[in-house]
Amino acid sequence: MTDSVSQSLPKRIAVIGGGVSGLAAAHRLVELSNEGPNKFDVTLFEASDSPGGVAGTRRIGEYLVETGADMFITNQPAAVNLCQRLGLSDQLIPTETAHRGSLVLRNGKPVRVPEGFMLISPAKVWPVLTSSIFSPLGKLRMGLEFLLPRRRERTDETLASFVKRRFGREAFDRLIQPLVGGIYTADPEKLSLQATLPRFIEMERKHRSLIIASRKQAAARENNSGTDGSGARYGLFTAPRGGISVLFDRLLEVIKQQAAVKLGEAVTAVSRSDSGQYTVQLRSGDSINFDGVVIALPSFHAASVLSAGSTDNSDVQSSNSVRELTGLLNDIEYSSAAVVVSGHRLADIEHPLDAFGLVIPAIERRKILAVSFTSRKFPGRAPEGRILLRTFVGGALQPEMLDQSDDEILQTVRAELKSILGVGGEPDFMEVCRYKRSMPQYHLGHCERVARIRDLTEGFAGLELAGNAYAGVGIPDCVSSGESAAERIVQQLLKQCSPDR
Ligand SMILES: Cc1cc2nc3c(=O)[nH]c(=O)nc-3n(C[C@H](O)[C@H](O)[C@H](O)COP(=O)(O)OP(=O)(O)OC[C@H]3O[C@@H](n4cnc5c(N)ncnc54)[C@H](O)[C@@H]3O)c2cc1C
Repeated sequence: MTDSVSQSLPKRIAVIGGGVSGLAAAHRLVELSNEGPNKFDVTLFEASDSPGGVAGTRRIGEYLVETGADMFITNQPAAVNLCQRLGLSDQLIPTETAHRGSLVLRNGKPVRVPEGFMLISPAKVWPVLTSSIFSPLGKLRMGLEFLLPRRRERTDETLASFVKRRFGREAFDRLIQPLVGGIYTADPEKLSLQATLPRFIEMERKHRSLIIASRKQAAARENNSGTDGSGARYGLFTAPRGGISVLFDRLLEVIKQQAAVKLGEAVTAVSRSDSGQYTVQLRSGDSINFDGVVIALPSFHAASVLSAGSTDNSDVQSSNSVRELTGLLNDIEYSSAAVVVSGHRLADIEHPLDAFGLVIPAIERRKILAVSFTSRKFPGRAPEGRILLRTFVGGALQPEMLDQSDDEILQTVRAELKSILGVGGEPDFMEVCRYKRSMPQYHLGHCERVARIRDLTEGFAGLELAGNAYAGVGIPDCVSSGESAAERIVQQLLKQCSPDR
């Protein structure tokens, strides 16, 4: 980079959306501005009055309540690395060691998920053989997995088809559907295995049997205390001591030191001029020009701002590309869910709640999807003698639940908690948090769709998409998505002003 080029900077970059993806993008831009000779003038636009998007922490009395995400995984390092750079490492706490494990509902009764069950595949045989979740025939069918050949076709398949092919229908219905479906609040009959859990495809390709592969992996991790407990590997999860919002507040604080942060500013359109500049139109009526834009919104919102901005585009080829891009973005389906957060006296609950939570298979035909025993996972979430519960409702399999009023949802949840866990008495509080169209569904064909979205976006230098719609819904995925978008946009803008161009 020559001096004359450096002098033509700073480039102005807008980040649209202040969820974790947008915050990570804006923060990375600020970092890149500090790291090199090139300066970037960054503006973050967020429609609501606070950052964090679908995740956030609230104090309700003496309870510390997560209304969305309550922890993140550490074996995908992006979120932990970010916390480190923000000086938050000492605030990250592991999950409690007592009560690690999950429950699953079987004929109306909570039953422990067999120890060593790794989401889809058991790493230990004995706990499955002795579990009351599966019938003798179901166990026999699961055992056949040892002998089954690998799949030869290389095409994608649904998560349900993969699990039924390897372990049989009962394993899917009784355990894997609620464990995996819960992560995406999705219908596993539609979920793409390639887009959601590609590591299991690799396991089958490499080891043929998933049981063999899981046992090998478990042996390799023998000394890692993070692999104990049933269900997910609980030792791999973490959260800030003060709740997930600690991360957002710190991000905002750092971003604000060097960038403009516009909270309560909804973007209505993003358009591109023939000279390659972007105009960001705000609901307030203002419009501002930028050299680059990171759109970190749910894909249907991204589609909406892009199509609103393309109406006056005279370039036919670019109009066609925007039309195809917005079509693909709109094709990504979303599910809606509600989380009912509630605080209870332990003395009012019959079940010992000796786990991190309970998942409920669709075949149980209940009106709730799962219950997280949140204050069992991290200390300081509930006062002494009390417990904080988070009950999940709706999702792709029960969308009609969201048509109910808050009062109706509360009544339903109270009745289900009473019947399943013996939760009685008056809760200290009970609130409904609604998440309308919040969970992208990675259906069959998702990877191809996202690859085409990337191709089309590359045709618009200075435009990047980030967020949970594309390559992972977890907090670390979103951090990666935002940070990579920031890095790509900086590369493009620098290339644009390179003298060799
Ligand atoms: C109930 C629930 C529980 C979850 N639990 C976990 C968990 O425990 N661990 C985990 O890792 N992940 C969890 N997730 C997933 C994870 O929290 C999300 O995938 C992630 O937070 C999404 O972040 P995002 O920035 O991509 O999107 P969002 O959070 O949706 O952020 C998008 C932002 O854009 C803003 N916006 C929208 N339109 C405009 C506009 N026109 N102009 C400006 N701004 C706009 C919105 O207000 C919002 O702030 C959970 C998700 C949900 C819904």
